[in-house]
Amino acid sequence: MQHNLARARACAPGSKVWGVLKANGYGHGLERAMRGLVEADGLALIEPDNALRLRELGWTKPILLLEGGFDAADVAMMAAHGINGAVHSEEQLALIEAARLPASAQPLNLHLKMNTGMNRLGFKPEQFAAAHARLRALPHVGEITLMTHFANADETAHARLPIGEQLRRFAAGTAGLPGPLSLANSAGIFQMPESARTLGTELVSDWIRPGIMLYGGSPGGKSAEQFGLLPAMTLSSELIAVQDIVAGDCVGYGSRFQADGPMRIGVVACGYADGYPRHAPQDTPVLVDGVRTRIVGRVSMDMLTVDLDGLPDARVGSRVVLWGEGMPIDEVAASAGTIGYELMCALAPRVRVVEG
Ligand SMILES: *Cc1c(COP(=O)(O)O)cnc(C)c1O
Repeated sequence: MQHNLARARACAPGSKVWGVLKANGYGHGLERAMRGLVEADGLALIEPDNALRLRELGWTKPILLLEGGFDAADVAMMAAHGINGAVHSEEQLALIEAARLPASAQPLNLHLKMNTGMNRLGFKPEQFAAAHARLRALPHVGEITLMTHFANADETAHARLPIGEQLRRFAAGTAGLPGPLSLANSAGIFQMPESARTLGTELVSDWIRPGIMLYGGSPGGKSAEQFGLLPAMTLSSELIAVQDIVAGDCVGYGSRFQADGPMRIGVVACGYADGYPRHAPQDTPVLVDGVRTRIVGRVSMDMLTVDLDGLPDARVGSRVVLWGEGMPIDEVAASAGTIGYELMCALAPRVRVVEG
């Protein structure tokens, strides 16, 4: 994570970094992610309870709630603990206006969010200046950062909504407004300088918001390795049984796999209850004793089965890597029809974590 954080900094020299550790640090554990990201300028997440937990764990630098507070109690908590938050809607703006904070409370530092085409959260470009003025008028509001989020930062020339179009809308909606800018997620970090240049804009993301790249997952477009990232998580297990089968024998639930000749099947202690995707089809890659082989048969709750052809020495106890070092999580995810983000976040609590 330290290496990947350094990569983010190298891509955006001069920008401050929010290390994004929502969803339990993308499955790596909140506290573990906090320690891995100790060099970040701030930590950003979604869950107010976990923001408070970070303070309890001793994090003294800024914290940002990426969806802001969800109710008045959250706003009071943010003021009491110096936690920043996004403001993305009329309702949330009203919540901030209605807040009656103790005189001793620190001013709220806020990220005013613009909807530049993703149409999930944020004020439209033409409403943005008015929302900014309302926040600016509040005595309990401190710094206001101007924020947006890109829909297609992994594909600069997206046919429907290129990043350049979002940047253009952002520049128009923020014209003349003071305050730092917070624009880029991982994909944006790899694209921003390029897109700002082709646009001819002067926009610089004062704060960047890397998430997936910090954990060594690719945000899309290129492989994690091509982006110079290292996997933070390796999911590994062992063979707990080996079966010799002959032509016509089947493997696992539904007998989905049927052998057309003699072969050896390895049974791996890892299943969907560990967070391995049940939808991973036959031929999804896996490493046994460092050698690439494939899944055969259905993934079940606690086990999955692999082809030991070409692995004559594999036996009970052989090390199996499901993803991580030597087996990119993005490749496994692609095979299972999903993305590395989902696999990381779905890592199950029962998986024993060993820190390297
Ligand atoms: C999750 C999130 C990020 C990080 O996105 P990655 O694609 O994981 O880098 C950045 N900004 C916001 C608002 C987010 O919600």
